[in-house]
Amino acid sequence: MSSAGGPILVVEDDPSISELVALYLKREGFSVLRASDAASALDLARQESPRLVLVDIGLPGREDGFDLCRRLRAQGDVPVVMLTARDDETDRVLGLELGADDYVTKPFSPRELVARVRAILRRAEGSSSRERAAALRIGDLEVDLDRREARVAGSPVALATREFDLLAYFATNEGLALSRRQLLDGVWGPGWYGDERTVDVHVRQLRKKLGKALCLSTVWGIGYRLG
Ligand code: CA
Repeated sequence: MSSAGGPILVVEDDPSISELVALYLKREGFSVLRASDAASALDLARQESPRLVLVDIGLPGREDGFDLCRRLRAQGDVPVVMLTARDDETDRVLGLELGADDYVTKPFSPRELVARVRAILRRAEGSSSRERAAALRIGDLEVDLDRREARVAGSPVALATREFDLLAYFATNEGLALSRRQLLDGVWGPGWYGDERTVDVHVRQLRKKLGKALCLSTVWGIGYRLG
């Protein structure tokens, strides 16, 4: 159901949020469709093959954003990003368990939302496209997702599985500040209820192994950002 040239479908019943999000996405060159409830969103998704669907959890009518996410998943592999209320862990975990690719917490900055949409599309469309670029390059560091290999100035560096997964997650979200919780969800999975310090331990390993080539900054009060 997803297609590279298709529109982005924004499903949100609050017209001011919906309009703002559509405006920013259009400004970035995306075509945008809007729906304000799950039923019309499903119809649009069937007709228009969106490349990504943004789903607000609170929707009017019989079905909410979770129901919509479940139905979209049953239909195909279109990337789904949930819009959740700030710090609502139940919403976040349920959304990811239902197969959403990511979530953005309200209130969000439209710029952050657009950056996240780009990151998901890179990940989703990159991994399904055979002729995509061989490796992501951030300065001297190359992250080769196909070969699961990190290289510094051309030489491979041995990483443990989770270390590579974490690095790959950073690389596909280049430039975005990522919270420890987000990193745990994205790398360890939403069902993993471990300590957020696990992230710090792995980051320390990455820094040790990759040295200066890893342009990873600590974002105080949040987490980390690559590039
Ligand atoms: Ca709503």
